[in-house]
Amino acid sequence: MVKIDINGMLANYDKKKLTIATVCSHSSLQIFNGARKEGFKTLGISVGEVKKFYNAFPLGKPDEFFIVDKYKDIGKYAEELQEKNVIVIPHGSFVEYLGPKNFSTLNLPTFGNRAVLDWESDRRKEKRWLESAGLTMPKQIKNPKKIDKPVIVKYHGAKGGKGFFVAKTYEEFAKRVDKSKPYFIQEFVMGTRYYLHYFYSPIQNDGYKLSKGSLQLLSMDRRDETTIDEVQRLGSIAELEELGIHPTFVVTGNIPIVMRESLLPQVFKMGEAVVEKSLELFGGVLGPFCLETVVTEDLEFRVFEISARIVAGTNPYTSGSPYSEMIQPDLSTGRRIAQEIKYATKHNRLKEILT
Ligand code: AMP
Repeated sequence: MVKIDINGMLANYDKKKLTIATVCSHSSLQIFNGARKEGFKTLGISVGEVKKFYNAFPLGKPDEFFIVDKYKDIGKYAEELQEKNVIVIPHGSFVEYLGPKNFSTLNLPTFGNRAVLDWESDRRKEKRWLESAGLTMPKQIKNPKKIDKPVIVKYHGAKGGKGFFVAKTYEEFAKRVDKSKPYFIQEFVMGTRYYLHYFYSPIQNDGYKLSKGSLQLLSMDRRDETTIDEVQRLGSIAELEELGIHPTFVVTGNIPIVMRESLLPQVFKMGEAVVEKSLELFGGVLGPFCLETVVTEDLEFRVFEISARIVAGTNPYTSGSPYSEMIQPDLSTGRRIAQEIKYATKHNRLKEILT
């Protein structure tokens, strides 16, 4: 394992010229926009060419583009990027394009705790983390012959729900499953989906306090997934399945949403427990994270996934959400990240939020 010397790098950085950098995709417009609002320089890492669509959004366009041949090569340019005083903001596509291994060894100060990747990408560890925090996850079905209610079959490492399918019986499962890929079977939880966007600061103590630092709820969304979310326009799912048309779960966008207020105490209880457990297990899930949940008709939460960085579901809220508006007007998750870096720089605590 490459030893990343954050302190050494930071000692050489010009703190007055910190540059917020990310890969040009996913939530980059929001990240650049938020960094700009907090007075940072911004740098967009892009493959092959400058992406023209940024010109259409001048306030979300990075000050500078850094062109690479392949995302996997970003590590090769670490020294050059260090000279630009770069702090990297990881997002889902960043980690995916770079590959988890290259990401964890990237020799650049990175916002958040890279140790979380291990706990998030290994299903068993994720389950251990969330369940030991007291959260309820959907049941896992080990033996497909025992399928007696709707299940969702997920392939390991599949991005954006690609290839996932639902089955109600063993026969349906056997007909659809691709056994050449590792998969697992989960109870399909009936209810409504909420993707909760938290922000954990280990260094600021105002608001909702934890054993160390504080927790915010910045926003929530519901993903728009094709074709499951609109397939009913063509007929019932059962009817369509008879014709061999199966719904898919590929994320295409995000819809803003709020939740009945009486559920908010549970939302904070879950977020708090997840952070406290993460502090115990691996030094904490620092910065933004998202719990992907279903609320059942008994108003109970089932959590089927955690994303331990900024999620694209925060994109509807470039200028704040109904929740962040009550923390500070015009506060996006991208801007909140920039604020955390600004605060840590001012108080000489950058090494507590970067890895
Ligand atoms: P994931 O890649 O695990 O986030 O799942 C992709 C999508 O499948 C989610 O956004 C949900 O719409 C749906 N989904 C995943 N797990 C479940 C579950 N256990 N019950 C119901 N829907 C689920």
